[in-house]
Amino acid sequence: MRSAVEIARDVRGGQSSAEAELARSLAAIAARNDELNVFLHLDHQGALEAARRVDERLAKGEDVGALAGVPIALKDNLCQIGVPTTAASKILSGWRPPYSATVVERVLAAGAIAVGKTNLDEFAMGSSTENSAFGPTRNPHDPSRVPGGSSGGSAAAVAADMTPIALGSDTGGSIRQPAALCGVVGMKPTYGLVSRYGLIAFASSLDQIGPFANNVSDAALLLEVIAGHDPWDSTSLPEDSPSLLSHVDDGVAGKRIGLTRELVDGADDEVVAAVERAAAVLRAAGATIVELSVPEFRLGLSAYYLIAPAEASSNLARYDGVRYGVRVDAEDVAAMNEATRTAGFGAEVKRRIMLGTYALSAGYYDAYYGQALKVRTLMIDAFKRVYQDVDVLLGATAPSVAFSFGAKTDNPLAMYLSDVFTIPTNLAGDPAISVPFGRGEGDMPIGVQLLGPGRSEAELFAAARVLEVAGGAS
Ligand code: GLN
Repeated sequence: MRSAVEIARDVRGGQSSAEAELARSLAAIAARNDELNVFLHLDHQGALEAARRVDERLAKGEDVGALAGVPIALKDNLCQIGVPTTAASKILSGWRPPYSATVVERVLAAGAIAVGKTNLDEFAMGSSTENSAFGPTRNPHDPSRVPGGSSGGSAAAVAADMTPIALGSDTGGSIRQPAALCGVVGMKPTYGLVSRYGLIAFASSLDQIGPFANNVSDAALLLEVIAGHDPWDSTSLPEDSPSLLSHVDDGVAGKRIGLTRELVDGADDEVVAAVERAAAVLRAAGATIVELSVPEFRLGLSAYYLIAPAEASSNLARYDGVRYGVRVDAEDVAAMNEATRTAGFGAEVKRRIMLGTYALSAGYYDAYYGQALKVRTLMIDAFKRVYQDVDVLLGATAPSVAFSFGAKTDNPLAMYLSDVFTIPTNLAGDPAISVPFGRGEGDMPIGVQLLGPGRSEAELFAAARVLEVAGGAS
């Protein structure tokens, strides 16, 4: 499939049309969606109407925007007005949002065509999409393996060329880890750069929406479209969207890049080797590679698994059988709440709610949640310290290539370790990107991760582009 940049250019130039691009996307979806379970909902009618509107506006000579006629897939925790939105939970079955997320409005206003809602781990809790209430998504490179998660559907949509771009959300790694496992580019932006308005909340102090694409330029273009201040999100940064696409070829000459021990230790040998090859490529492109250690990163996972469940237990209190989706009736309100939540939530969501409620409860709050917040401060300080010395950090995205279904479902801790390299930057609120770099066991893709200080997205795209051009082969 052509890139989003090329599609938008051709649609604007009259060599293609939004309707033709949509037809191509829907044909790719029809060919493999039954096998891969990428989309929970396809909006054929809405997409066709939107494509025709874009083509009509172009015919009148109007500027339809930077994503003119580009098909896009939306993770099903992003609200789109009138379109079923479930967060892959039974508790939201049948719910149609009365408004659209700011990111959805922005991509549509830029001329993109939303084809449907992609599968995820229920409420974005997981690393494999096996926690979806509607069955897992399969990895397009090998359908016996997971696509990663929680944004597994969005990563797979792009990897299977169903849509050139997609949106996901990343609370502890849910864009970067599936991007790595599916062989696509995925970025978690700086906290506050992209509005969370209309994103179904998991852990609000960590959640960020970001792009998936088959190449670095498309990811930069998509982020440029969705970023920038939004008065509907109180944590939104005050600035306008930064210029990103125009900087992707800036290179890394003169940059200091930190090859970080804690971001590779414990990964499979083939993943470590890919990161080392990436370091060599960056060095050859003019960067100075500094080997460093940030011991605080080792604390990330345990702090995250107190903070994220604590926030989730509060955010998910709203699913009470009154306001949204499913209700299971019972003799009084409390019993109705209990019956609804018992029937509506899956096992992992219940586990997180119980962990979070416990961590926040009187008598334990200081020992667990309070302690985790202190660790979070240590993490923020550690990142600040290293970014005084280096511009970018380099490490692995995930410890291994995509694993088989069921390999980690019996052991939540093993599953949680999938995000050991991605979580630190969520805790700090800084950006990071995963870019495909070589292949490993079973010819499955490997992703390497580049991390930078707040608002360093342009530099991260430029460094990722150097790796993309080099190709990653051993
Ligand atoms: N896999 C991590 C978790 O289960 C991260 C999820 C995410 O980033 N949404 O919490």
